[in-house]
Amino acid sequence: MARFTLPRDLYHGKGSLAELKNLKGKKAVLVVGGGSMKRFGFLDKAIGYLKEAGMEVKLIENVEPDPSVETVMKGAQVMREFEPDWIVSMGGGSPIDAAKAMWVFYEYPETSFEEIIQPFSFPTLRQKARFCAIPSTSGTATEVTAFSVITDYAKGIKYPLADFNITPDVAIVDPELAETMPPKLTAHTGMDALTHAIEAYVSTMHCNYTDPLALKAIEMVFQYLPASYNGDMAARDQMHDAQCLAGMAFSNALLGIVHSMAHKTGAAFKNGHIVHGCANAMYLPNVIRFNAKNPKAAERYAQIARYVGLTGDSTQALVTALCDKIEDYNRQLNIPKCIKEYENGMVPEDEFKEKLKNVAALAISDACTGSNPRIPTQEEMEKLLTYCYYGQKVDF
Ligand code: FE
Repeated sequence: MARFTLPRDLYHGKGSLAELKNLKGKKAVLVVGGGSMKRFGFLDKAIGYLKEAGMEVKLIENVEPDPSVETVMKGAQVMREFEPDWIVSMGGGSPIDAAKAMWVFYEYPETSFEEIIQPFSFPTLRQKARFCAIPSTSGTATEVTAFSVITDYAKGIKYPLADFNITPDVAIVDPELAETMPPKLTAHTGMDALTHAIEAYVSTMHCNYTDPLALKAIEMVFQYLPASYNGDMAARDQMHDAQCLAGMAFSNALLGIVHSMAHKTGAAFKNGHIVHGCANAMYLPNVIRFNAKNPKAAERYAQIARYVGLTGDSTQALVTALCDKIEDYNRQLNIPKCIKEYENGMVPEDEFKEKLKNVAALAISDACTGSNPRIPTQEEMEKLLTYCYYGQKVDF
């Protein structure tokens, strides 16, 4: 038995933000981030549409990037006082992820954060409110997924929360919001979307329902990402759909060790974070080489390669062509080749070596490792990370 869960309604295309007018309810809380939605006028538009729907609106603003447990608890308190029947969240992954977690503690004030860390253990939501998500970046696809990433800064740990209860009821995928993204964010979120689709396609949890979504997303990212990065807004609009299709696939097929490695290297080093999408882009070709030692996984990568028009006279040749293509895209998008070259040497060699054992162990225990087609040993994970640090091609 397998489960496949998506939002009940998905509105997409330019101007679909106006669908907020048709939500039925009395009170809506609107959760947003640091201000780009306000600056570009989308916050006022959203408030206007919700008022047209006859709802009283309350704002929760300034959700920070990588939202904290405290932000979640504060937002839940605001919701308990206001008692909304709709939670609407608009912006990048962070405000939407935070709002998903706030929803749990709004409906279940006695629940503790520790109780929901265990995947698929949430209490039954929708007792008080339903959830509408409106993404402004083209990558995380949190508007359609069962996931939310919340950071416990006291412990220095990022928790990926997972439960189909937090899959939104309504997703509004309006590409006009994504047209506000600067190029670097476009590159990083786009490669995050590609990683989602490729990891979902080779995941041990993949199925007939997730495969077509993953393949179409991969095809669209390869077709549109460089142009989107270079400011072609028609391509940017296509990328907004592509990332959402990738999200539908990975929310149900889960991910793999590119994400395990990105999660655990992301906040490990003292001079700054390695941005999620950029980390994925750097690690993806080496993880493909590593996974492709499993013949079944190699065949899946070869299928992807054929689907996007690459040629080769053997499975191995097709896998190599796929890795070459991803590395070519990384170059076009100005993504560094390896951790050593990230942000002018932000991660020094001695710090990397000192933390390698621990980061590798944490990556193996990450929730995304279980569905990867080849489970690495501690020694293999250390080697994988080392090859990704120096930009060497994995051959084991
Ligand atoms: Fe991701």
